[in-house]
Amino acid sequence: MSDTRKLYVRSFGCQMNVYDAQRMTDTLAKEGYVETDSPDDADLVILNTCHIREKAAEKVYSELGRLKKAQEEAGRRQMVAVAGCVAQAEGGEILKRARGVDLVVGPQSYHKLPELLADAARRGHNRRAGIVETEFPVEDKFDFLPPPTPAAIAKRGPTAFVTVQEGCDKFCTFCVVPYTRGAEVSRPLAKILDEVIRLAEAGVREVTLIGQNVNAYHGADAAGRTANLPELVRRIAEVPGIARVRYTTSHPRDMDDELIAAHRELPALMPYLHLPVQSGSNRVLAAMNRKHDRELFFDIVARVRAARPDIAFSSDFIVGFPGETEADFTETMDLVERVGFASAFSFKYSPRPGTPAAGMGEQVPEAAKSERIHALQALLDRQKAAFDAACRGRRFDILLEKPGRFPGQLIGRSPYLQSVVVEAPLEAIGTLAEVEVREVSTKSLSGDICGGEFFGERPARESRFIGQGEKLEA
Ligand code: SAM
Ligand code: SF4
Repeated sequence: MSDTRKLYVRSFGCQMNVYDAQRMTDTLAKEGYVETDSPDDADLVILNTCHIREKAAEKVYSELGRLKKAQEEAGRRQMVAVAGCVAQAEGGEILKRARGVDLVVGPQSYHKLPELLADAARRGHNRRAGIVETEFPVEDKFDFLPPPTPAAIAKRGPTAFVTVQEGCDKFCTFCVVPYTRGAEVSRPLAKILDEVIRLAEAGVREVTLIGQNVNAYHGADAAGRTANLPELVRRIAEVPGIARVRYTTSHPRDMDDELIAAHRELPALMPYLHLPVQSGSNRVLAAMNRKHDRELFFDIVARVRAARPDIAFSSDFIVGFPGETEADFTETMDLVERVGFASAFSFKYSPRPGTPAAGMGEQVPEAAKSERIHALQALLDRQKAAFDAACRGRRFDILLEKPGRFPGQLIGRSPYLQSVVVEAPLEAIGTLAEVEVREVSTKSLSGDICGGEFFGERPARESRFIGQGEKLEA
């Protein structure tokens, strides 16, 4: 009998889930599981879920229903596990609401997957006896999760996420993260560096340090002192092979002078900062318990731009928070106009069970939320289009990541995370190319290679892209 079993993992939500999915896959690779792209031929399906908004959480139940139906139609038996934040928040409720779930496992217990799955398999077809594991164990899961093999790293391409911090102590009144991911915990600096060195040795060129509150990072260093995010970024930028570093998601409150200085001093730190503001109204920000006001946000944007003039900003917005008036929303539109964003995410407020805002009076009617989100997204789309259009004719470094749609094409990323299509051979994947942007569409840019690591010496020229602040003032 072959020990090879097929595993399908579907991730919903944030980058942390993408990272967690990879770590689960690495853990199960040791048990003989190989990844498949199709849920239909998998022996084990893991749904790695997101609880941040109601819509995201509901998707899980429709996916579970779909899986059950497909299994019945094909007369097939698959193991099904629900992981991620819905698992953590709803636990045993999932077994009551959806049939055919073998295991519900919270994000802090992924290192226990092999034993939990073996236990679930022993319980066999009696799925009413599904297992629920949502404890916050005393041991650190990162000490037990096996690292990816060089082959697995190479398959994932030249960019990688690395979790450096988990959980959140901020308790914004709308947010489930402090409840699903728990209190803020930072990984020790040396362990993160080991992981980055291993990734770099297998060909990774760009790492994105991730955490729910990444700029609150405070991991222990080898001497037992506390290292902060700028120090961590500095150490990672020194790892041979690493050309680019990013970090996400930051909280405005934790953007201190040292981190801002790192943007000035470290060329490897990409000039693109995702800094969620949520609202432009001080009244709403206070009700959200955001611990910053619009003035602090403007001040941070100005100081980061002074340190790194070519920087571009991205953000998250929530419209229709309880009690948000038209005047509050106008303040949000005003903040967007004043700052100018290269890209952004905007959401209608979604009440989450157990969070303070869900119980607040003055919930905003759905029609008003819809009207506001349309207006906000239209403005953000215009800003993104203007930012992208300003890239035409400019040159910057693109990290070539993967084959494009047509033979002879590669797709890379600009410093601003835009997809850029170029003509280049497959062997150039994983290298930095200097590219002059020729065309701009809503989905991607395309351009011509002028030089780079694979293509020879670069012509000596000024290739820095002017920042979005300068563009907007022009
Ligand atoms: N820690 C980050 C921060 O403080 O901005 C991001 C947390 S969350 C994973 C990503 C985004 O989801 C938030 O920035 C917020 O805009 C949005 N979000 C969180 N809770 C929400 C809710 N109840 N309704 C709508 N959007 C929500
Ligand atoms: Fe949620 Fe606020 Fe923490 Fe971000 S800072 S994860 S929005 S509680």
